[in-house]
Amino acid sequence: MEDCKFYELLLDLPFLSVSSVSFDSDKLVVTCHSQLGEGICPCCKKKTTKVNQRYHRSVSDLPISGRSVVLNLEVRQFICLDCNRTFSERFDFVSESTNTTHRQAKWVFMLCEKQPISQVAALLGMGYSQVAHIYQLGAESLISACDPYKSVRNLGIDEIALRKGHGDYACVLVDLDRGCVIDMLPFRDKERLIAHFQAKGEAFCNKSNI
Ligand SMILES: [Zn+2]
Repeated sequence: MEDCKFYELLLDLPFLSVSSVSFDSDKLVVTCHSQLGEGICPCCKKKTTKVNQRYHRSVSDLPISGRSVVLNLEVRQFICLDCNRTFSERFDFVSESTNTTHRQAKWVFMLCEKQPISQVAALLGMGYSQVAHIYQLGAESLISACDPYKSVRNLGIDEIALRKGHGDYACVLVDLDRGCVIDMLPFRDKERLIAHFQAKGEAFCNKSNI
């Protein structure tokens, strides 16, 4: 039991109790479960303590002393007594689509920026496709965070002459709400402007007031 408490402190993951720790070849397997007594229904947001079934899922976490760490998470499937739906509990520290903790996904992404995916996979004892998926998601999220078009709702279009008297114009796109320039395009004709906005996706075109 003392060992379990030690690993809870070492992992430092919220509301997580460690039941047992074992070694599987070079991997440290930590069996654990949530300390929370109830689940919140994702549909009606009501709390429930009624458990339908329990199962385990493996989640990759940061290595400890060079050993891979796998959290053998006990997951409760609850029944909502208000809307009668069943749902599995979520863990805030788990990245659902990659089957890793958020901190492991972040670490994998940082490693992938420095070396080939195959090397990262070998280093961490993970599959190539899992590492590639994590890297792709990380890159997409970074691009999305850097995308100046992302939060635009009201877009202004202006034009400036790059060289006076030469008919050399550029198109200036302005986020009218933030009052800042978000892009400059080396053309101003209608067809290419439409193609430029269409390339941003249907969601962008639908939300913008140009
Ligand atoms: Zn419900």
